[in-house]
Amino acid sequence: MNPQPANSLTALSAPEHNHDVIVIQVRDIHKIYQLGETQVHALRGVTLEIRHGEFVAIMGASGSGKSTFMNILGCLDKPSSGQYLLEGTDVSLLDKKQLAGIRNRKIGFVFQGFNLLARTTALENTELPTLYARIDKEERRRRAVEALKMVGLEDRMDHFPSQLSGGQQQRVAIARALVNRPSILLADEPTGNLDSRTSVEVMEIFQSLNDKGLTVILVTHEHDIAQFTKRSIVFRDGKIRRDEPIPHRARAAEVLKAMPSIEED
Ligand code: ADP
Ligand code: MG
Repeated sequence: MNPQPANSLTALSAPEHNHDVIVIQVRDIHKIYQLGETQVHALRGVTLEIRHGEFVAIMGASGSGKSTFMNILGCLDKPSSGQYLLEGTDVSLLDKKQLAGIRNRKIGFVFQGFNLLARTTALENTELPTLYARIDKEERRRRAVEALKMVGLEDRMDHFPSQLSGGQQQRVAIARALVNRPSILLADEPTGNLDSRTSVEVMEIFQSLNDKGLTVILVTHEHDIAQFTKRSIVFRDGKIRRDEPIPHRARAAEVLKAMPSIEED
């Protein structure tokens, strides 16, 4: 046995922390949904690169293609045409089983509605994705505890979702996304159901994970939330309309100090 320090995920402490490494490469992606007789052209030629260690906000009006794009990045769906290379692997060449495998190993997902199992503790919820990995029970438990520590919930491990606040539930969902030690974290409107202070607390966690080397891509329609990332990409009508760095990035930990800790209204 060679135990790792409690606070490090393998992917995060890996030596290949090289910001020149392209993790996501998308070329002229189109997505057309067939709805009965009509076609919905949800993505209309999207091309971009995302490097290791980036922190990207995907923005844009409702219906502009953000979730469609995230589902493709997360290997939950395939583009109708165009190319997607995930860490150099051409995803379009993979069959369903291989897609599921790459998804489990490389990608963590966080959704707006936390999707936790109600009768299951924080620890067991976090452990769930490890059931697909070939590791033993003790190792599973160890990784789940480690992930819960990373989101500051080590003292809530035995609580059920109903015994946790919205922000704590979202942190369990983030721990669950981290448990298989992904190199990329995808989050679709992760603060959409949270009040403003709790949203900043969640952004503090994403910032600290990104500081440790995790590549983070999140969808938000709130400019205040995008200000915590390093790059904003705005979608409109299935195309990238703008793609620019965030100039003076806000630090969530600093913003929190200036916010009231209890909602006063
Ligand atoms: P956003 O996340 O930016 O709100 P979406 O990616 O969900 O946008 O949707 C982009 C467009 O594709 C919308 O017009 C939407 O109605 C359509 N769409 C999304 N998912 C499906 C689907 N499964 N079947 C048909 N149309 C879809
Ligand atoms: Mg969406």
